[in-house]
Amino acid sequence: MFRIGFGFDSHSFEEGKPLVLGGVLIDFPKGLKAHSDGDVLLHALTDALLSAVGEEDIGQLFPDKDPQWKSAPSSLFLKSALERVSKKGYEIINLDCTLIGDEPKIAPIKGKIIQNLSLLLGIDRTRISIKGKTREGFCQAEGIACFCVVLLQEKKA
Ligand SMILES: [Zn+2]
Repeated sequence: MFRIGFGFDSHSFEEGKPLVLGGVLIDFPKGLKAHSDGDVLLHALTDALLSAVGEEDIGQLFPDKDPQWKSAPSSLFLKSALERVSKKGYEIINLDCTLIGDEPKIAPIKGKIIQNLSLLLGIDRTRISIKGKTREGFCQAEGIACFCVVLLQEKKA
């Protein structure tokens, strides 16, 4: 038995805030505006995992009005989603994320991000795909968006 989940997230840039993508601190002059650390990749991935097992989404589980999530590392949200996936009897087969934005360039940093996701998720890095796309003038907003799809399978008893 398989289940698929899809997640999307986007944040605009904020000057002087650290940029965190996939739990990795990126050397870049701007961060992402958000109540939490603004990790657009982990937010999309968390939502993909939650929706794959029919849980409520990240905004319902971790409301941005709640002071306990202020500047929270988004790995907390991911960890909670993983626990819910495991509790429902599923494990990750693979995941595929596309980051959209003109900067920073994803190719030079994706190895580090995949390595960190592999640690956070406890899966081999060959099961994780990250790619970057530029906006090509499609959207005027200055920031980063992320689409993420994840495939789960029932854990063997
Ligand atoms: Zn977000």
